[in-house]
Amino acid sequence: MSIRVLDPRVAQQVAAGEVVDRPASVVKELVENSLDAGASRVEVELGDGGTSRILVRDDGAGMTPEDAGLCVVRHATSKIRSVKDIESVNTLGFRGEALPSIASVSSFSLTTSTGEGAATKVVVEGGAEAEVSPASHPRGTTVVVDRLFYNVPARRAFLKGQRAERAAISEVLTHLAIAHPEVAFRLTEKGRDHLSLPAAGDLLERLAQILGVARARAMRRVEYESGAFKISGYAALPSVTEGSRAHQTISVNGRFVRAESLHRGLDDAYRATVPGGRYPPVALEIDVDPRRVDVNVHPTKQIVRFSEERVARDAVAAAVRTAIEWRPPGPATTPRQAERAFTQERFSPRPEPWERVSRAAESRSAYQAPPEGGLQEVRERISEASRPLAEERARYEELPERGALPPLEDLRVIGQLAAGYILVEEPEEALWVVDQHVAHERAILDRLNDSESPATVQSLLIPEVVELSPGEAEAVAENLEELAVYGFEAEPFGPRSVRVKAVISTLADRDVAGAFKDALAAITRTDPGHSREDHILATIACHSAVKMGDRLSQPEMEALIESWLTSRLPATCPHGRSICFRIGLNEVARKLDRH
Ligand code: ADP
Ligand code: MG
Repeated sequence: MSIRVLDPRVAQQVAAGEVVDRPASVVKELVENSLDAGASRVEVELGDGGTSRILVRDDGAGMTPEDAGLCVVRHATSKIRSVKDIESVNTLGFRGEALPSIASVSSFSLTTSTGEGAATKVVVEGGAEAEVSPASHPRGTTVVVDRLFYNVPARRAFLKGQRAERAAISEVLTHLAIAHPEVAFRLTEKGRDHLSLPAAGDLLERLAQILGVARARAMRRVEYESGAFKISGYAALPSVTEGSRAHQTISVNGRFVRAESLHRGLDDAYRATVPGGRYPPVALEIDVDPRRVDVNVHPTKQIVRFSEERVARDAVAAAVRTAIEWRPPGPATTPRQAERAFTQERFSPRPEPWERVSRAAESRSAYQAPPEGGLQEVRERISEASRPLAEERARYEELPERGALPPLEDLRVIGQLAAGYILVEEPEEALWVVDQHVAHERAILDRLNDSESPATVQSLLIPEVVELSPGEAEAVAENLEELAVYGFEAEPFGPRSVRVKAVISTLADRDVAGAFKDALAAITRTDPGHSREDHILATIACHSAVKMGDRLSQPEMEALIESWLTSRLPATCPHGRSICFRIGLNEVARKLDRH
């Protein structure tokens, strides 16, 4: 075969694959252009999850007729003039590749106006010559991408289902929205809102729009400076975690990026307090001298590389750690070893009045004895679905059985503190303050992991309807069977909710919806295997356990302490958090000047 220079149109289609590989990357490029144009509002409309249509409309600066004609030409950009400019570029784009690439693999049209003079419409059919004509459009730009990859069947074949593509779009848009709180974003399909984010006053308000007020309240401010790095934003306390990195947004010099080293830094920061595979929401902005970071290693600019990867990773870890660690109230009190583990989350704000009311109403059924009957069947299905916990068990066996805890007979439950901690007396010796949620969680998890006396699945008297995000709805449809392995008997209920009919009995009166969603996230985000099984069981235990704020009666507290102390590893909590701390009587005496 003889060598031939490719037809430019074919070359463009081949190159397009580097920039756009799925609808979500088209959305990312178009929305970044809107942001570069200074838009205050960006709307995205989809047809069939973006596979048949992607429309992005903005109210940004728009283009003149001359620029509009040029923008679909390869390497046409208004953003840099020379290679040196890349170092100081402060726009999201600069390679002038996105529009021509997208236009070469779709039916593309762009209508734009600067608000002065005529508007312009540019139509490109599968990379053919652009047709430019006058049009009408308010200030701003609307891009319509129809039939993406219609002329590249091999790539079209790689598209996932509509729901998966829509979920990926929603995730990209969420990251961009977190990186740009001052801009309003909206994602719709067939007139239905998938994301609707009015302009936010600041980052925390944007996080509240996305995560909900309660989770946003568990975010701590990050403000950190070290060497070349200045890091600001928010990081969640370790008690708030999710099954994926979908809400771990990091931007570098204003550009949302994915960088392995930065994700590692986050994991370092949370390692001691968050189990593997769980990800607390984080929104960080890193300011760094542009000469120390290369944004041009990948055509979509989502991957960046630092000149000193390790330094970047450590800076992120230190920034987050500083934000979430517990600090002593004043310089006078040096926390003792045992108290140090007592992180800030223990002093989470008092429940809102409405929360207190609903908790009081719940408190009747707040405590549930750990399961006794047989989850045998479920256990068997679990071990079929994934490898059993044999190695995990071996690890268990090596650890000290009881840690530093005294035998049960010697203890006396004194009462409850702030509806969150159980006070236990170790006569003649000490006072124990036990976190009721983590202790209960530990006890339940232990029973769930115990194949000798496993738990039962229980039908709910009133099936619970769980509302889902588009991404979750997509995932549920594909994972109903595996969810059933963990006791969740569920069926689709309308396009964006499911009806859960049965759960593992410990969950029956508890947070079914929360457990269901977290279990789903664990299934979709972790590989099959024992660590996935661990996550799911830990999730069920967490949502089954009494919560901070649940008032417990004396017998309930005694039963809880008993089941905790008789569990396999009472001193450690499934999330690696501390469960209790001890105040020696001599310390009490010293505090009261009785030494
Ligand atoms: P890049 O963003 O790397 O410059 P693109 O192919 O994405 O390359 O866009 C080419 C040019 O078209 C941009 O430099 C910009 O001048 C113009 N442009 C693209 N989209 C918009 C928009 N939504 N509003 C205004 N100008 C735009
Ligand atoms: Mg661009």
